[in-house]
Amino acid sequence: SDGRIYNFSAGPSMMPLPVLEKAAAQMLNYEGSGMSVMEMSHRSKYYDDIINGAQDVLRRVLNIPDNYKILFMQGGATMQFSAIPLNLMVTGKADYAITGNFARNAAKEARKFGTVQIAATSEADNFTWIPTQDQLNLDPTADYFYFCANNTIFGTEWHYDPETGNVPLVADMSSNILSKPVDVSKYGLIYAGAQKNMGPAGMAVVIIREDLMGHYRENMPVLLDFALTADKNSMYNTPPTYTIYMMKLVAEWVEQMGGVEAMAKLADKRSSMLYEFLDSSELFKGAAQKASRSRMNVTFRTGDDELDKKFIKESIEAGMTNLKGHRLVGGMRASIYNAMPVEGVEYLIDFMQKFEKNNK
Ligand code: PMP
Repeated sequence: SDGRIYNFSAGPSMMPLPVLEKAAAQMLNYEGSGMSVMEMSHRSKYYDDIINGAQDVLRRVLNIPDNYKILFMQGGATMQFSAIPLNLMVTGKADYAITGNFARNAAKEARKFGTVQIAATSEADNFTWIPTQDQLNLDPTADYFYFCANNTIFGTEWHYDPETGNVPLVADMSSNILSKPVDVSKYGLIYAGAQKNMGPAGMAVVIIREDLMGHYRENMPVLLDFALTADKNSMYNTPPTYTIYMMKLVAEWVEQMGGVEAMAKLADKRSSMLYEFLDSSELFKGAAQKASRSRMNVTFRTGDDELDKKFIKESIEAGMTNLKGHRLVGGMRASIYNAMPVEGVEYLIDFMQKFEKNNK
C-alpha cells in the first residue's frame, strides 16, 4: 500500500510505523516552535524537554533506579569499546567473555588501556554458543566483567545475568535492549548503540551506576569522560539532537505498547515461530546452538551456498530485504527487532516453506 517492505536488517533497522508517522507529522513545525527538531538549538527550552523527556521515558520503561545515570554519547556502540576501559579500569584489568565479533573488538580495544583476561570464549566454534555460569573463569579482583548480551552477527543471546559477586557487570545490549525486562540493579553499566531497537544511528545510550563514574585518568578524551558527560547532561558539545528525539518517540511507543514485558512476549512469539519452523524443516538449519539462540537475530542456512544465494535473490523479489547473513557466518540472518510485525515473520516462514518445496 505505502510501498514499505519487510526489512530484516541487523541495523539500522525497521522503526515502528507510528513513530515514523509521528516524526513526519512533527517534521515542519514541532509543537508550535515554528521549526523541525533538527533545526532547533540544543540549548532551547524545547530541546531541554526533549532530552530530559527521553531520559525520563527510558528510566520508566527500563525501570532504571535513581542511582544510575543515563548518558547519550556519540560514536555508536564502538566508541564505548574505548570509553568503558578508560573510565572503569581502575586497577588495570578486566574480564571479557568473547562470544562474537563485537565482544572480540571490545577486548582488542580494551587491551590498549589495561590487561584483558578472557573469562570465556566460543571463538573455536565460530561463536555458536554462550557460556554457562559454570564456564566463566572469573577474577574476583577484576575491575569489571564485560559481555555482549546479544551477538547480532552470530544469532546468540545470553539468557541469564552472569553472577560476578562484587565485580561490576558491564553489558553491550546494542541488539536486545528494550526487548525484555532487565534488572538494572544487577549491572554496573549497560550500553547500546541506538540503531537497532531504539532509533536511528548516531549514538549510544549508557546506563551507569553513579559510583562507577569519576575515576581520574590522565589524558582522558573529553567526550569519553562519563562523569563529565553526566555533569553536562550529555550536552558538553552539540549532541545528536534528532537521534535523541527519535529515540524518545521509540521509547514512548514501547511504553504505549505495554512496555518491555509486551516487547518480550512479541519477541518470544516471533523467534519461536521461526525456530520451530527451522527445526521442522528438512532444508534449513539454524546456525546457533539451541540453548544459545537469539530472539532478535535468527541465523540459518541450507548448507548449500548456491541455494543460499538463490534464497536471498528470491526473497528480494518477494518483497523482503536484508536477509543475507554476515560474511563471518554466511547463509541467512533474519533480524526481528521490536518494530518487526509478527506478520513479517509469518510472511518469511510462508516464503521459506514454498522455497523448500520448490528446491527439494
Ligand atoms: N555491539 C553490537 C552487539 C552490535 O551489533 C554492533 C553493531 N552491529 C556494535 C556493537 C557496533 O555498533 P556501532 O556500529 O554503533 O559502533
